[in-house]
Amino acid sequence: MTPGLTRREREVTDINEILKILNKTKIVHIALVDGDEPYVVPMNYGYTYDNGKLTLYLHGATEGKKLDLMRKNPKVFFSMECDVEPFSGQVACQYGTSYSSVMGKGIAEILEKPEDKMKGLSLFMKSQTGIDFQFNERLVSAVSVIKIDVIQFTAKHRPKPINA
Ligand SMILES: Cc1cc2nc3c(=O)[nH]c(=O)nc-3n(C[C@H](O)[C@H](O)[C@H](O)COP(=O)(O)OP(=O)(O)OC[C@H]3O[C@@H](n4cnc5c(N)ncnc54)[C@H](O)[C@@H]3O)c2cc1C
Repeated sequence: MTPGLTRREREVTDINEILKILNKTKIVHIALVDGDEPYVVPMNYGYTYDNGKLTLYLHGATEGKKLDLMRKNPKVFFSMECDVEPFSGQVACQYGTSYSSVMGKGIAEILEKPEDKMKGLSLFMKSQTGIDFQFNERLVSAVSVIKIDVIQFTAKHRPKPINA
């Protein structure tokens, strides 16, 4: 059980159910620290879950604001969701949105070694497409590959009401 989680009945604790959400979701919102301001950037992601350890992989251009911020402060928070479906009701408060979501925090590392980048990019593409792509040193030199070691995460599922 996660301390402080409201609507506890919606918490997802079964790791197999959480992995289903991670498989289905293709976009993650990465929150970064920009001095005393937040900065959030939507990105595609790949992930691995090994021995209870969740790791996210991102890729993008070799420069830009998110990389500058990660270099200054590698702490990130992330949020992702799938199965988003609005539903209606008889009165305003019966309207809502069903969803499955995962949120958590971690430490970002901008990978430097070509072999680490090749592995990260393959894991990214496997999650996004289901295909085992291989990369060479020349290809990965043109992109940045970011690994996020996830420290803690939680998941929620709000089903659609039966009569909605
Ligand atoms: C669904 C989706 C998936 C994406 N997947 C990836 C991905 O896998 N990899 C990747 O690198 N990028 C992805 N992007 C683009 C990403 O959101 C950023 O635009 C990009 O990574 C550049 O970020 P940056 O911090 O380097 O911004 P910079 O290019 O340095 O620009 C900084 C400024 O531009 C503005 N800005 C940056 N991004 C956006 C944006 N998305 N929308 C509006 N304003 C913006 C902000 O005001 C910011 O202050 C995706 C975007 C979307 C919507």
